[in-house]
Amino acid sequence: MLKMFLLAASVASAQVTFDERFEQFKRTATPEQLYAFLYAMPKGGDLHHHGSLAAYPEEWFAAATDPAVTRGNTFFTRLRYSACPDSLEPFLRYQTIARYAFLKLSPCAQEEYARLDQLSPERRQGWLSAMRLDQPGEGRDEFFEQVVNRLLGLARDPNVLADVMARYLQRYGREGIRYVETQLGLVGGVDQEGQPYPPAKVADTMRAMLARPEVKASGVTVRFLITVIRFRPDAEQRIEEAYAFLDQNRDLFAGLNLAGREDNDKGHALRFLETFRKLRRQYSGIRLSIHAGEVDSPGTQVRDTLLLGAERIGHGLNLITDPNTLVRMRDRRQLVEINLVSNRLLEYFPNLDLHPFPEYLRTGVPVCLNTDDPGVWDSNLTDEYFTAIRHFRLTWAEMKQMARDSLQYSFAPSEVRRLMLANYDIALGNFENRFAKSFPETLKSVKPEPSGYALRNILVK
Ligand SMILES: [Zn+2]
Repeated sequence: MLKMFLLAASVASAQVTFDERFEQFKRTATPEQLYAFLYAMPKGGDLHHHGSLAAYPEEWFAAATDPAVTRGNTFFTRLRYSACPDSLEPFLRYQTIARYAFLKLSPCAQEEYARLDQLSPERRQGWLSAMRLDQPGEGRDEFFEQVVNRLLGLARDPNVLADVMARYLQRYGREGIRYVETQLGLVGGVDQEGQPYPPAKVADTMRAMLARPEVKASGVTVRFLITVIRFRPDAEQRIEEAYAFLDQNRDLFAGLNLAGREDNDKGHALRFLETFRKLRRQYSGIRLSIHAGEVDSPGTQVRDTLLLGAERIGHGLNLITDPNTLVRMRDRRQLVEINLVSNRLLEYFPNLDLHPFPEYLRTGVPVCLNTDDPGVWDSNLTDEYFTAIRHFRLTWAEMKQMARDSLQYSFAPSEVRRLMLANYDIALGNFENRFAKSFPETLKSVKPEPSGYALRNILVK
C-alpha cells in the first residue's frame, strides 16, 4: 500500500514538473524550438477537415499527373479565356477538368486549356499557388467561389482523391496525429467517362486505400463523415440518401455533417429538423457533427443545430453570443471543433486575440483543435497548436485535455476509442520522458516539416 502511495506521489510530482518545465520552455523557446516541440508532440485526433481540401496542391499535382494513379485519365487546366460560346463557367484560371469534360468542348474552348502534366515550371507554380490562400487579400470569396471550384474536377475522380488522402494521412502520421474524421461528399464522384461513380464503389475505393501498407504504417485511424451541402435545393433528399448509405457502411462511415457557407440563409439549421426527426424514426446510431455559427453575426445557430441532434459543433464562433446555450454546453455533452487558422484566413477573426476559443476552453466547454481545409491554408495541426499557444498561452494540461477530448468525442466505436485513448496516454508518457532531461537537447533530434503557412506566418525571419 505504501509502495502504491509512493508511486502515485512520484507520478504526480513528475507531472507537475513537466507542466512547469513546459511553462519555462514557452517563455524562452525560439519559434523554431516551439514549432519542433509541437510537431513532435502526440496530438490525438483531427475531427474537422474536408477530405478534398486537406491535401496540399503538391499532393494533388503529384497524384493527378501519375499514370499509376490516374489509370488512363488525363487532366486539363485552364490558362486563358477565348470567349467561345461553350466556354465553361465560372471563368476561372487554373480550373482543372478531367478528359471527358475537355472532350465535350469545342476546339475553340479546348484552346483555353493545357494538359496538367505538360505545364511549364512557371505555370506549374501558378497552378500550385492558385489552389491555396497564400496572397494578401485572398479570403472568404477566393476560397468558397474560386479555389473549391478549381479543384472540383480532380476531387471528383475517386482514384485521385483516394491517392491524395493516402499522401496526407502519411503526413498526418508523421506529425503525431493518431485519428482523423474526414468529411466526404457522397455524390459528385465520376468515372473517366463522366458517369456517376456509385457511392458503394467510393466506399470500396477508400477501403482499398486504407489497406495500402504505407497508409497502415502511418498509424492514423480513419473514419469518414458524409457531408451534405446545406443550401442546395435537394439537401433533404441528400441527407436521406446519406443515412441509408451510412447504415450500410458502418465499418468506416460514422456519421453526417452539414457544410456550406452559413451566410447563405437557404441552408439554415431548422430547415432540416423534420428530416432528421423522420430519419431517427428509422435509424439508430448515425452520429452528427454539424457546422454551426461560422458567421460574423450573433445568433442561435448552435442551439438550433443541437436541436437537430448534433453531438459536435463545427466552429461554433457565435456560440459566445448565445448565453443560454453557452452555459448548457458546460455540461460537457457536446464538443466544439475549433479551427483557428481557417477562422483567421476566412476573416471571421482576422485578429485571433478576439476568438472565443479560450472562453470555451476555460469555462469547461469541450473543445479540440482541427485543421478544416489545411490543403488550401497550406497548414497543419502543429500550426493550430502553435497559434493557440501564442495567442492564449495554453498550458500543458490544457493541451493534453484537448488532445484527449479529440479522441473522447470522436465517433469511432467505443472499443476503438478506448484503445486510442490508452495508446495516446502511453505515447504522451513516453514523450514526456523523452523530454525529461533537456528540451533544447532533445529537440535537436526532431525534424519537423514546417507548413507553408508556418513559413509565411510563424517562422518568419
Ligand atoms: Zn469545415
